[in-house]
Amino acid sequence: MVHINSITTAATIAVSLTSALTLVSAHIPLTTHSSGHGSHALEKRQAAPAAPTTGPSCNTTYAPVAAGSYPAIDCVPFTHDPQVQTWLKLVDFSKTPVFPPSQKGVCPTDKTSIPQDQCWWTCQKCEAPDDITSCPTTGTWGLTFDDGPSPDSPRLYDNLLEHNQKATLFIVGSRAVSLPATLKRAYNEGHQIAIHAWSHNSMTSLTNEQIVAELKWTEKAIFDTIGVTPIYWRPPFGDVDARVRNIAAQLGLKTSIWTQDFDTNDWNIPAGAATPQSVVDTFKGWLAKIPSMPHGFIVLEHDLFPEEVNVSINGVLPVAYATKGLLMQPIAQCLNDGKPYKEGAGTFKLLPGGSGGSNGTNPGNKNSAIGLGDAREGQEVLTVSAVTFFVAFVMNL
Ligand SMILES: [Zn+2]
Repeated sequence: MVHINSITTAATIAVSLTSALTLVSAHIPLTTHSSGHGSHALEKRQAAPAAPTTGPSCNTTYAPVAAGSYPAIDCVPFTHDPQVQTWLKLVDFSKTPVFPPSQKGVCPTDKTSIPQDQCWWTCQKCEAPDDITSCPTTGTWGLTFDDGPSPDSPRLYDNLLEHNQKATLFIVGSRAVSLPATLKRAYNEGHQIAIHAWSHNSMTSLTNEQIVAELKWTEKAIFDTIGVTPIYWRPPFGDVDARVRNIAAQLGLKTSIWTQDFDTNDWNIPAGAATPQSVVDTFKGWLAKIPSMPHGFIVLEHDLFPEEVNVSINGVLPVAYATKGLLMQPIAQCLNDGKPYKEGAGTFKLLPGGSGGSNGTNPGNKNSAIGLGDAREGQEVLTVSAVTFFVAFVMNL
């Protein structure tokens, strides 16, 4: 069940580029969240859209985006814009499945009313064949952080750098244009940069044209900053169905979600519905079942709010670093994809051994390899088995 949080009065979402920092640091955009994400897997953190724009400060009157500029931050971009009109020609909407936009991404009470072929991940737990929801190899963790870059992201990057650990970062376009230097740092340090969305709204609630605008403006903001075009994207809240997937695929994007129920709930700490201890306990609970899973997993974490970064660098990551046999990798690494950008590898470095399978490679986390506590990036090729994974995990619980 999704309910509306009472923090709505704080939702004075700024719309100018210069106010982005204030928006992030003041923890303002927490207007809704899911109380039952175990079944819905929603990570609500912002007001849902009222077409064509959203948020109390979003203009409802169209004005063209000035040359060299971007749409209002945290607002669904206007589709009238000449730039968007050009992008719309990239998609053949006659090939896009027709399903009505959702009501703010909220599932209908009667889920059996949803057509099977809509394959709505959040409401039907439906995974399409091309969805990326796990890493192939048991014991491999697709390490991802959403919603950055934020003023707190550098603290996360510092921790990852210290451990020679790379991650996949799903970037909000509005944050990218607000903190381009932070995004540049992440890219320069070899993290996999990927697309989240422009305004962080439920994608199933948007029109076909708005979906294109959200994805392409984010892509442009990232390209303008780091010079490469991400191929991977993650829908905010994991809110994707066959219609949204089709549009993303036609734009050349790979839909990447997370493994069902592998949501740390870190987003619920600033919302007041989780604690750092509960997040760490959740994570430790996964460690017990990871060795018996037929594949690896992808975890949902965030770096928008200080509480989220805090629980990562002080709670989850230290436990993970100390867990032998756990291979943390960017998604592209665990999928053995050396070209996560349309231009190729960029700064991303695919390590030998790819997915870290039976002859996997330590991705750089010095404690992530069984029996080789100080192995470094690209230096060691390891042979691991389910049995040794299990023993290593149990001993580190
Ligand atoms: Zn998000």
